[in-house]
Amino acid sequence: MIVEVVRPETVREAVSARSRPGAAYLGGGTWLNSGRAEGVAILISLERLALDGIEAGAGGCTLGAMATLQGIVDAAEAPAGLRAAAALTASRTLRNMKTLGGELGLRSADSAIIPALLALDAAVLTAGRKRALPIADFLAALPGDLIISVTVPVRPCVVRALSRTAHGTRSLVVAVSAWGGDDAAARSASRRGEEADGQPADARVIAADCRGLRMRLTDIEALLVELRRAIAPLPARERIEEAVRAEFPAGGDAHASGAYKRYMAGVYVADALRGLTDGEGA
Ligand SMILES: Cc1cc2nc3c(=O)[nH]c(=O)nc-3n(C[C@H](O)[C@H](O)[C@H](O)COP(=O)(O)OP(=O)(O)OC[C@H]3O[C@@H](n4cnc5c(N)ncnc54)[C@H](O)[C@@H]3O)c2cc1C
Repeated sequence: MIVEVVRPETVREAVSARSRPGAAYLGGGTWLNSGRAEGVAILISLERLALDGIEAGAGGCTLGAMATLQGIVDAAEAPAGLRAAAALTASRTLRNMKTLGGELGLRSADSAIIPALLALDAAVLTAGRKRALPIADFLAALPGDLIISVTVPVRPCVVRALSRTAHGTRSLVVAVSAWGGDDAAARSASRRGEEADGQPADARVIAADCRGLRMRLTDIEALLVELRRAIAPLPARERIEEAVRAEFPAGGDAHASGAYKRYMAGVYVADALRGLTDGEGA
């Protein structure tokens, strides 16, 4: 039961308040007030810490932890793939409440935002750190640190998700991004068999079975890198689908078996790659 709400004025005060038994940082409160959060007695409101900004900068777009999902959907400076992932929470009411910090604090297995952030190679800044952590390292660490902001390179990214209804729990999320090595100079250098100048080609293909497995599909990533370096054309759809199914050992749930998720992951990744090459998510 919630017995107290504290409203710190500084990050230091917020971190200090978190050391009290039963204290939790309050984002939009959709989880903390849902009756499913156990052992929470003190809410630490972050409303006075000015963490809701969304700004374009040299390293990409920086989004404060209190940025809402609707704020992300509306932010022209945010990567299109991240905006699309935020829009997958179908209810505008929920999008107006849910925050980026809450999404990362909870690390919900069926989050569509987290695969998008992984595909985009985002970095997460937490209180007390000078440098932001790569999102994969942030997710590997124990939860509990106060999330200040997330910086996301503005790159093409396409996200696809499977759920029985728009408001239902998700059973599968895939996110695909590829960048660098695709300019005319890189292509002609590659045709001449030379190393291209400029940004090296790289790619991320993330698949989540929404039951705890969230992984990079490195075989497909390698195909995409070859494509960006103009070494290979986009393979036939069937080849992409088969490669995804071979690499993704999805677990089943009440709504979708593991076999169905593997099948659909192949379909979605092939769709997403086609979307990327057609300019979707740019
Ligand atoms: C009715 C309902 C529908 C839902 N629908 C979806 C859905 O469609 N998709 C989905 O992914 N999830 C869904 N969820 C789960 C959950 O609401 C979300 O994952 C969500 O993003 C939580 O965001 P919030 O800002 O409301 O977080 P809160 O409830 O405020 O907090 C969630 C967790 O994050 C921590 N936290 C909050 N801010 C920070 C911060 N800055 N630093 C560190 N930790 C922090 C909190 O202490 C808490 O542990 C739903 C939940 C409910 C109750």
